[in-house]
Amino acid sequence: MSFDHRIFNFAAGPATLPEEVLKQAADEMLNWRGLGTSVLEISHRSKEFMEVYEEVVQDLRSLMNIPSNYEILLLQGGGLGQNAAIPMNLMPLAKNGPKADYIVTGIWSEKSYKEAQKYGIANLAASSAAEKFNTIPPRNTWKLSSDAAYVLYCANETIGGVEFPDVPDVGKTPLVADISSNFLSKEMDVSQCAVWFGGVQKNIAPAGMTIVIVRKDLLGHSMGITPLIWDWSVQAGTQSMINTPPTFSIYMAGLGFKWLLGQGGVKVIEKRNQEKADLLYQFLDQSSFYENRVEKQYRSRMNVTFFLKDESLNAEFLAQSNAAGLVALRGHKAAGGMRASIYNAMPLAGVKALIEFMRDFERRA
Ligand SMILES: *Cc1c(COP(=O)(O)O)cnc(C)c1O
Repeated sequence: MSFDHRIFNFAAGPATLPEEVLKQAADEMLNWRGLGTSVLEISHRSKEFMEVYEEVVQDLRSLMNIPSNYEILLLQGGGLGQNAAIPMNLMPLAKNGPKADYIVTGIWSEKSYKEAQKYGIANLAASSAAEKFNTIPPRNTWKLSSDAAYVLYCANETIGGVEFPDVPDVGKTPLVADISSNFLSKEMDVSQCAVWFGGVQKNIAPAGMTIVIVRKDLLGHSMGITPLIWDWSVQAGTQSMINTPPTFSIYMAGLGFKWLLGQGGVKVIEKRNQEKADLLYQFLDQSSFYENRVEKQYRSRMNVTFFLKDESLNAEFLAQSNAAGLVALRGHKAAGGMRASIYNAMPLAGVKALIEFMRDFERRA
C-alpha cells in the first residue's frame, strides 16, 4: 500500500514526530551548518556538537522549568535500563539496607518493580493488578515503608492507558517518576519528584536516548556494581559523555524542543493534548459500539485504549483503518483491543480523522 501524503500514525513508540522536525532534519542532513557533513558524522566532543548538547539541555531546562539543583542526564539503555540504574543509584540511601517502595499500576511499573528485586528489597506498596490495571489504588491504601530509599511510580501507563492526574504525595521519601510516555505533555512541577526519567521515543525524538532528571543531593551513593554508563554521578561529571552518546537522538530531541518552544511551550501543548483526548473519550462514551474501560479520572491523555464490544470485528477494524491511513491502532498484546497514542506531535486533525472513521465503521457494521 502506498500513500501520497503522510499517514496518521497512532503508534505507542517509536511514535509520530512533528513533520516540521523531520523536514528540517532531511533538509540539513547532507550539509549541517555549512560543515559539508551531517551532524551524525562529527565527533560528539567537537565544538559544534557540544553546542547542540548545551542547547538541548538548556531548552529542556526551560521547557520543564527545571530548577538548578537538578542534573539533566542524557543516557542510553531506555526506561528498562533505568529500571536497573535507579535501584543501583538510590537503594544504598536506605537506612536499613537496600530497599524501595513500588506502586504498580500497569505493565511498565510492574517491570520496574520486578527489576528492582535484583538489587534489594522491592516492596509492593500498592497494586491495581486485581482491577486489571484499569484504575489507580487510592493513595490512602498505599503501604509505604518508613525506611525506603525512594518510592517509584509510573506517571502514565502506556499499555493500559492509565495516567496519574497529579503527582502523589509520599511525604519526605524521594519520589521517582517514569514519564516515558507523558514527558513534556503537560506542566509538571519538577520539585515534586526527586527523579524523573523516560525514553524519548514516545513523545520527543527517535529511539536511542533516555533522559534522567535527578536532584543533585541524591548523587554519589551508587552500588559498587553499577555499570559506569549508568552511574548517575559519573555521567553528571562528564556531561553524560563517559562514552559515546546517542548523537542522532540528541540532535533530533534538540529539533523537537525548538518545535515545542515554537508551539508556545508545554502549557500550550497541554491544552491541545487535553482537547484531543477529550474529543476521543467523548466519542467513546456516547458510543454503544466502542468502550474505554479505565476509571474516568485516571484516563490517559496520551494513550487512549478502547475495545470494540464485538471483538470479532477487530481484524476488520484494523484492516480498514489501516487502509484509510490511520495506522498502528492495535492494542498492546498484553492488553488486547485497540490503542490510539496521541502524543504531542499528533495533530488535532488526526484525532478528528480517527473519530470520523470510527463513526463510519460503526454505522457500516
Ligand atoms: C516504553 C516505556 C518504557 C520502556 O522504555 P524502553 O525505552 O523501551 O526501555 C518504560 N516505561 C514506560 C511508561 C514506557 O512507556
